[in-house]
Amino acid sequence: MATLISSLPDHLPGRYIQNDTRPTLVGLSREELMEALGRVGVPEKQRRMRANQLWHWIYHKGVTEFSVMTNIARELREKLGDAYQISRPEVVTEQKSSDGTRKWLLRLAPDERGQRHEIETVYIPEEDRGTLCISSQVGCTLTCTFCHTGTQKLVRNLTSEEIVGQIMLARDAINDWPEDLAANPQPPSSGRYITNVVLMGMGEPLYNFDHVKQAMEIASDGDGISLSKRRITLSTSGVVPEIVRAGDEIGTMLAISLHGTTDEIRNKLVPLNKKYPLAELLAACRAYPGLSNARRITFEYVMLKGVNDTPEDAKRLVKLLAGIPAKINLIPFNPWPGTQYECSDWDTIERFAEIVNKAGYASPVRTPRGRDIMAACGQLKSESQRMRAKDRPAADAHG
Ligand code: SAH
Ligand code: SF4
Repeated sequence: MATLISSLPDHLPGRYIQNDTRPTLVGLSREELMEALGRVGVPEKQRRMRANQLWHWIYHKGVTEFSVMTNIARELREKLGDAYQISRPEVVTEQKSSDGTRKWLLRLAPDERGQRHEIETVYIPEEDRGTLCISSQVGCTLTCTFCHTGTQKLVRNLTSEEIVGQIMLARDAINDWPEDLAANPQPPSSGRYITNVVLMGMGEPLYNFDHVKQAMEIASDGDGISLSKRRITLSTSGVVPEIVRAGDEIGTMLAISLHGTTDEIRNKLVPLNKKYPLAELLAACRAYPGLSNARRITFEYVMLKGVNDTPEDAKRLVKLLAGIPAKINLIPFNPWPGTQYECSDWDTIERFAEIVNKAGYASPVRTPRGRDIMAACGQLKSESQRMRAKDRPAADAHG
């Protein structure tokens, strides 16, 4: 299991520029982009057209310099370059798993307190698709007991720039912009490397609603990154009041981190369940806009030995979801240093899967990817946190 930590990131076009305090244009809505143009003197009646040009350069072509924007007059390009940047987060490390999974530890630009936080982004290639798993927060305020991110103390919401910036950085790193793909002698059969995005990295996306919404608007815009909302999945631990709103306003696919089939079990695993118990959660799922057999909710279920993995649990699970167009993802628990849980035995998972299968849900077990680089679900936690934990006494080394 070779883990490669490459010395990156020389090949990246948009490298992070230290101490650059120019505001970025990445992450702005079209209206905000028009306002930014107004601030450098672009007359009002030209702003929409100019914003469309910038949008195309930034999100369709993926450029990071104003100087290459040939359809914009040199004078305006210079003004834009003096006032703004087209930023990327800084790559601290890139790791490659033996199975092709790639994980980036990214350091963000200083926030208003001058702090530079770190987040992780993971790319998972499969035969016919490639999924980018992005973070929505630094850490997470929730404390699911089986999740490594949940042990991270430091938390803040990511801005829309930082959310969409993860997609842009990944496209840089794997040469996934249209020009790169056109020059690629063996382009991926799916036409592009990143075909899907899942909000399943660090953080609870529905606690960062507005920024996630704006970032997904940008990612799905047809003149840019152009990912269909059907190929974007938002995963939530069950923030009930925001679920239906997310369907109406964000409109992506939905995944629910279920993990328990009774309130008693789920309270222990996902403490948010005490606030929004199963009955309320499932009612919100039933009310999710646009549900159909072609547009199902994914229910994630982490397999924890001796906790939630009996045949009775499986039967309860199937019963609970009756009537909801659903997919079930059984996730073998991914252990992390200091966890109290173990993954269920393979036989137990198979028995569980068989019951779920018989109820009509196809191949529900998700193969863990990138385990050798701690890139699998729920293992993400920024490197600096992990390093510090190593220095603590063993009893305290919780992650
Ligand atoms: N906060 C959101 C999204 C991020 S977590 C949520 O909880 O849904 C993404 C998925 O990974 C969730 O289903 C989460 O429950 C699962 N997960 C967390 N820790 C895990 C672990 N150690 N092993 C397997 N899956 C885990
Ligand atoms: Fe947060 Fe999701 Fe981890 Fe729970 S599983 S602590 S909600 S990131």
